[in-house]
Amino acid sequence: MQILKQEQIIKHQLPELGYAYNSLEPFIDTKTMEIHYTKHHQAYIDKLNTALEPYPELQKKSAPALLKNLDSIPESIKAAVRNHGGGHFNHSFFWPLLRKNTPVTGKDIEKAITKKYGSYENFRQEFTKASLSLFGSGWVWLTIDKGNLEIIQTNNQDTPISSGKTPLLAIDLWEHSYYLKHQHKRASYVEDFFNVINWNKVNELYINSNGKF
Ligand code: MN
Repeated sequence: MQILKQEQIIKHQLPELGYAYNSLEPFIDTKTMEIHYTKHHQAYIDKLNTALEPYPELQKKSAPALLKNLDSIPESIKAAVRNHGGGHFNHSFFWPLLRKNTPVTGKDIEKAITKKYGSYENFRQEFTKASLSLFGSGWVWLTIDKGNLEIIQTNNQDTPISSGKTPLLAIDLWEHSYYLKHQHKRASYVEDFFNVINWNKVNELYINSNGKF
């Protein structure tokens, strides 16, 4: 007898962080990591779960599945899914991108970046410029779309997967990501961010994305 696999209701929850809050010091401070992960990320998850409660069919879908099909979400919860579902997905994507001492040198993603931007240094400048020119809260991303690398900005918790792009790298530019250590100095945070990019992870995402196109 064949047993049909039933889709289960998902209660969205915090993913494993995978490292200690202090492991990104001195670039991202311990207290910021703890509050960002346990309070801000958790709040997006709680609000997403609450919004989905009246919709059992939508409770069976992953955050990416919801965000890739925002048009199909009922108007009554569309903003909540976009903001809190986006917040959940974006932060879940962001945490594994952070690690010290994982340089870009010699990796496939370095070759792709050099091909597109001329040099890693040029890429760093372009990514920084996009990060400093984003008005208000949001994110800057390195995405890949049909093999083409692109630096893009999103506002609030909007996410590139809603527009069909595959993210490889992200920087959270909400002040809650840096205010305790860097206060109003976003440039100082962005500079420090380049010391904690986990290029092993970015490279892995890049290699896996290649197979899709
Ligand atoms: Mn954040």
